[in-house]
Amino acid sequence: MAGFWFTEKQTENFGITMKVNRTLHTEQTDFQLLEMAETEEWGNMLFLDGMVMTSQRDEFVYHEMVAHVPLFTHPNPENVLVVGGGDGGVIREIMKHPKVKKATLVDIDGKVIEYSKVYLPEIACELENPRVDVQVGDGFMHIAESENEYDVIMVDSTEPVGPAVNLFTKGFYAGISKALKEDGLFVAQSDNPWFKADLIRQVQKDVKEIFPITNMYLANIPTYPSGLWCFTIGSKKYDPLQVPEEQFFDIETKYYTKELHKAAFVLPKFVKDLAGE
Ligand code: SAM
Repeated sequence: MAGFWFTEKQTENFGITMKVNRTLHTEQTDFQLLEMAETEEWGNMLFLDGMVMTSQRDEFVYHEMVAHVPLFTHPNPENVLVVGGGDGGVIREIMKHPKVKKATLVDIDGKVIEYSKVYLPEIACELENPRVDVQVGDGFMHIAESENEYDVIMVDSTEPVGPAVNLFTKGFYAGISKALKEDGLFVAQSDNPWFKADLIRQVQKDVKEIFPITNMYLANIPTYPSGLWCFTIGSKKYDPLQVPEEQFFDIETKYYTKELHKAAFVLPKFVKDLAGE
């Protein structure tokens, strides 16, 4: 098909619509419906089960905010894990941190990795970096089998449907705590506050019961439903709002700055209420 309008429905009455110039690849993988498309406004885009995962034009916001907020919070993030994230965007950002000796990526679907390299090359560009270990497998199982291993864990998953259902459970957060070293911290994408209030409330409650320091921060991502996106951070020791000034250093970004690092935690009242702050 060529030249059609695609809508990702968020509710029965609301969706986000974009013009697709042409479909580049469609495949039902073992886990999800994978679609790559060229769009008029946002460049090439990845969709999984009809949901927008990333676009060439606005991907930097999500990937920078998932990676840099936790990495600048931890003083020595040597060993890092990404759960999901098969497009490679979070890995690309992690590679900007010289202290990271090793970054492991565990995505359940090897096809996402394969087709991101073809159609989203500037996002997947660091997947072959020798500091990166790419594994195809279930992130839930990987976490269950890890102990006292990682400094920082980033959960870059799909929404809590299909293969990602387990990645939004209290058992998973408890596993993350076990997989982290004693001063480790993690971040997880937590959907949007307009349509997923119950999910956000639950995630915040669960993470608070496990981690002594829990916060939520926001970013503006135009191709995601409602445009406002939440990230939950759980930390054993380091507070993302108390990062010593000398811990920040210059890296090339388009969204993240050290000022924004702090500002992203300032929540509108209705979001603050969801976070139970
Ligand atoms: N940034 C996107 C968003 O917020 O919509 C998500 C990016 S996409 C690359 C998420 C990835 O999570 C997909 O490649 C999917 O295969 C992976 N995923 C889903 N469930 C998983 C699981 N249980 N273990 C590992 N990866 C998983």
